[in-house]
Amino acid sequence: MHSPDDNHSTFSLHLPDETATASFGRQLASLLRPGMVVWLDGDLGAGKTTLVRGLLRACNHVGPVRSPTYTLVEIYVISRIYWYHFDFYRFNFPEEFLDAGLAEYFRDDAVCLVEWPDKAAEHAPPPDLVVRFEFAEPGRTLDVVARSEEGRTCLKALNCGWQDAAT
Ligand code: ADP
Ligand code: MG
Repeated sequence: MHSPDDNHSTFSLHLPDETATASFGRQLASLLRPGMVVWLDGDLGAGKTTLVRGLLRACNHVGPVRSPTYTLVEIYVISRIYWYHFDFYRFNFPEEFLDAGLAEYFRDDAVCLVEWPDKAAEHAPPPDLVVRFEFAEPGRTLDVVARSEEGRTCLKALNCGWQDAAT
């Protein structure tokens, strides 16, 4: 199920199970470009890391995809593109983002996927896309919101791709 949006600034869908979350991650992988930032919002257990796992698998990453909860960032280099997967859940203060030197990861040759961006408050670089997970037991609902021109290009492709897939 999806809700296309005329100006392509939002995209919503229902994810009935874990496979659907990973599958959406795979679809998103083909749309992201170096330099883009994606925020992954949602409570613990919502499916944020599952989406990243699907996304990296689509990029032909074969090793494990671990939650960065303790490491703050997990690094993947695939076809000369850097994929940085962050998780700021354990921050006690937003300034820990700066203290850990994380700002320098947000570069033009890197795609940054960020869990718990709110914990870094205003220090987290602004996103191109925000992916919001809500529990809709037994599945999840997902809203994708564009926050930049590049993000809007992605959403347009998502809306069109989903329509093509449905026909
Ligand atoms: P987060 O990173 O948001 O804390 P995880 O990706 O670690 O969450 O997922 C937590 C659990 O939710 C996993 O057991 C995963 O299998 C499950 N899950 C992921 N997507 C869905 C879905 N669409 N429906 C039901 N369960 C899901
Ligand atoms: Mg996680």
